[in-house]
Amino acid sequence: MPKDLYTVLGVERSASKDDIKRAYRKLSKEHHPDRHKGDKGAEQRFKEVNEAYEVLSDEKKRAMYDRFGSTGGPAGAGGAGGGAGPFGGFNFSGFNPEDLGGFGDIFETFFGAGGRRSKREQRGRDLQVEIEVQFVDVVEGADRSMALERQRVCEKCGGTGAKEGTKQVSCRECGGTGEITRTTQSFFGAFRQASVCEACGGSGKTHEYACHICGGDGRVRSRDTVTAHIPAGIHDGQTLRLRGEGEAGVRGAKVGDLYVTVRVRPDTAFERDGDDVRSSVSISVADALLGIEISIKTVHGSATLKVPAGTQPGQIFRLKGKGMPLLNSSRTGDHYVTVNVDVPTKLSRAEQKLLEEWRKMRE
Ligand SMILES: [Zn+2]
Ligand SMILES: [Zn+2]
Repeated sequence: MPKDLYTVLGVERSASKDDIKRAYRKLSKEHHPDRHKGDKGAEQRFKEVNEAYEVLSDEKKRAMYDRFGSTGGPAGAGGAGGGAGPFGGFNFSGFNPEDLGGFGDIFETFFGAGGRRSKREQRGRDLQVEIEVQFVDVVEGADRSMALERQRVCEKCGGTGAKEGTKQVSCRECGGTGEITRTTQSFFGAFRQASVCEACGGSGKTHEYACHICGGDGRVRSRDTVTAHIPAGIHDGQTLRLRGEGEAGVRGAKVGDLYVTVRVRPDTAFERDGDDVRSSVSISVADALLGIEISIKTVHGSATLKVPAGTQPGQIFRLKGKGMPLLNSSRTGDHYVTVNVDVPTKLSRAEQKLLEEWRKMRE
């Protein structure tokens, strides 16, 4: 078994950086090959001291060493290299922890983060599309169809990938586990890393004879139509999730989902403001002064607005409940009408005369 690095340097596990440096200086002098010419034992000790110092003087390496034990890593394969050092001859020079694919992977491999240890199937891909709907579609909700080309479950074999009348068998590549375990040499010694078996897509199953329609994959490329229901009140940029409308997984693995992002085309007459709708209308000066009843176009059809006498230019009126429906609710927003007043740029002689008289009256 490889020796404990702290024991090699003769320091406590809690030793400070300086303690380690001091112990190293002392021991490397003591065991220096120049002082013990031809002494194989001294040469070996000198090597060990240097290797121990290389790990313990580096904060990162020391932390990893502390974490994974003193005997060369959890895989217990540290000594495999023939006792050349605590790590079985593994060479630390130029060692970079990132080379191992980051600490996350290593820790997950060792400690089996959550459910990662369970059989991992290659679930079908999720798909993403964007569709454009008209402003009015959002008022009542609408169904929208789209053509999609995607991998779907092969109907001939029902997704198993097996030829009709032949059975599914355990995957030979992974022995039915759905995982391929690789042993990698690393800083700690050897460790095992599991990945999804590509031969069976993680299902652990394969077939004696492949289905001739899908070639054994359990999926076929198909172009078909998917209908998405656009709910009333949806906002521009919101995304719907259609479960199971994505791509089929390999050999009966779970089907992915389809994400539909809805773009609502702006309307020329209406402006959406949250769940409210805004529009504007123009009336004459006389109508503003005397008041008038006008018909307003709303998303629910026309409504009557009573514009009172003395309405100011730009005044806003509310038509309650005439706005957009609230998503997943029976309530609706309001419609706000901005009333503009048209000031004529030209007057006839008769109008001018009349207005001059009116001006005198107001003085
Ligand atoms: Zn098939
Ligand atoms: Zn397999």
